[in-house]
Amino acid sequence: MSAERDTLYDVVIIGSGPGGYVAAIRAGQHGLKTAIVERSSKLGGTCLHRGCIPTKAMLHTASRLHEARHGDTIGVLTHDVRLDVARMHRYKDRVVAKNAQGIAYLMKKNRVAVVHGTGVIERPGRVGVSTTGDDILAHIARLREDRVAKPRHRPAPAESSPGAGAPPTRAQEAIPAQYLPTPGPRDERRPMSPMRRLIAEQMVWSKRISAHVATFLEVDMTRIVRLRQARKADFLRTNGVKLTYMPFIMQAAVSALRAFPACNASVDGDDVLYHKDIHIGLAVALEKGLIVPVVRHADEKSFLGLARAIQDLAARARSKKLLPGEVQGGTFSITNYETFGSLGGTPVINQPQVAILGIGAIEKRPWVVEGPDGDAIAIRHIMMLSLSYDHRLVDGATGSLFLDHVKRVLEAHDESMMG
Ligand SMILES: Cc1cc2nc3c(=O)[nH]c(=O)nc-3n(C[C@H](O)[C@H](O)[C@H](O)COP(=O)(O)OP(=O)(O)OC[C@H]3O[C@@H](n4cnc5c(N)ncnc54)[C@H](O)[C@@H]3O)c2cc1C
Repeated sequence: MSAERDTLYDVVIIGSGPGGYVAAIRAGQHGLKTAIVERSSKLGGTCLHRGCIPTKAMLHTASRLHEARHGDTIGVLTHDVRLDVARMHRYKDRVVAKNAQGIAYLMKKNRVAVVHGTGVIERPGRVGVSTTGDDILAHIARLREDRVAKPRHRPAPAESSPGAGAPPTRAQEAIPAQYLPTPGPRDERRPMSPMRRLIAEQMVWSKRISAHVATFLEVDMTRIVRLRQARKADFLRTNGVKLTYMPFIMQAAVSALRAFPACNASVDGDDVLYHKDIHIGLAVALEKGLIVPVVRHADEKSFLGLARAIQDLAARARSKKLLPGEVQGGTFSITNYETFGSLGGTPVINQPQVAILGIGAIEKRPWVVEGPDGDAIAIRHIMMLSLSYDHRLVDGATGSLFLDHVKRVLEAHDESMMG
C-alpha cells in the first residue's frame, strides 16, 4: 500500500483513534512497515480528545469534590469546598497531553510513520492522502458517479486480476500490473486455497524483508545409516517410535544452535533478539501445501524425546490435528528435501527466524576417505545440507561454521548419543 509521496508500506491505517493506533502498534511489532494517516493535527481520536480520557479526568475532579463536600458524614469536616472550573480544565488538558505523548512515543517506538491529512482508499492497495480535502471530495464524487453509471456486478474473467475486488495480499502487491498474466481461452482461473494464499504471502514477505544467502556442505552419513539399520527394529519395538534420520539431524542442529546463538535469533528493527530457548520448526509437506509444527524446547529433549515429538507432530500435521499453538513460536526451522529425492535446495527463511536448515537425499557415492595407508575411494552414504540465513544478522563465516558444526556432530555420531 502507499501513502504520501508514493511511499510503499505493508500496512496503511486511516485514523489514529484506539482502533487505529492499536492496529498500528501491532503491525509495527510484527515488523511490518506501517503508516497511520490522521486528519486531525493530534493523534488519539475521539477517545483521547473528546471521549474516554477527558471525561474520566473531569470525573476524577467531580469525585474528589463529592468526597470533600460529604466528608462530614465520615467525620472529616471541610469548609468552603468550591470548584475551580478553569483549573479543572487545565488538569484535564494535562491528562490528555500526557496520553497524547504516550501515543506519539508508541508510534515512534514501533516505527509507525505518522502522516497528517485525510486518507482515502483510492483502489485496493493504494491510499491517497490529502491535506486540503479537495481531492478527496472530488474522489468521492467520482466514486458516486461510477456507482450510478455501473451497477454492481462480478468482474468478467478477462478484467479480473489477482486481488481485484479484494484487499491485496503481501504476495500480490509485489507484482507490477504489466507482469500480471493475460488469461488464454483454455486457461482456467481458480482462487487460491486459504493455505496456498498464506504460504504465498509468507514466502514473498520473507524474501522481501530478509537478505537471503545460502551455503552448502556434504556430510558423510555412513555411520548413522549403519546405526539406524542396526537399531531401527529394536527401537520401534522398545519405544513404539520409528527411527528416522530426523532426530539425528535435529540433535546436531541443537548443538550448532547452542554454539552459534546468532542463528537462534530474530531481527527486531535495529535490535537483535537472541532466543534462549530452542524451538525447532519442522516443515511437513501436506497433500495441498505445507505446515511447520514446532518441536518446543528441542534443547531439553533426549534423543528419544526428539524422535517422539517429531513423529507425533508430523502425524498430527498430516491428519490436521495440530493445535494452533503448535505451529507458532519456532526459533529455527528444518526442511527435508530428502523425502522427495532432491539433493538439496535453498529454503526460504520462516519469519521471524533468521536461518533454516535444508536436508537433501542420502545417496551412495564414491568418496575419497583418508586411511592409515593414504587416500582410498570407498562407497559412502552422502547427504547434502544447506543453510539459508539472513545476512542482516548472520555472516558467511557464521553460516559456514554452523553447517560445519552440524556435519561434525553427524559424522562423529555414535550409539551413546541415542541414550
Ligand atoms: C464522551 C465519550 C466518552 C466515552 N467514554 C468511553 C469509555 O469510558 N470507555 C470506552 O471504551 N469508550 C468510551 N467512548 C467511546 C470511544 O471513544 C470510542 O469507542 C473510540 O474512540 C472508538 O475508536 P476508533 O478508533 O474506532 O474511532 P475514533 O476514536 O473516533 O478515531 C477515529 C480517528 O480517525 C480519524 N479519521 C477519520 N476519518 C479519517 C480519514 N479519512 N483520514 C484521516 N483520518 C481520519 C479521526 O480524526 C479520528 O482521529 C466514549 C466516547 C465518548 C464520545
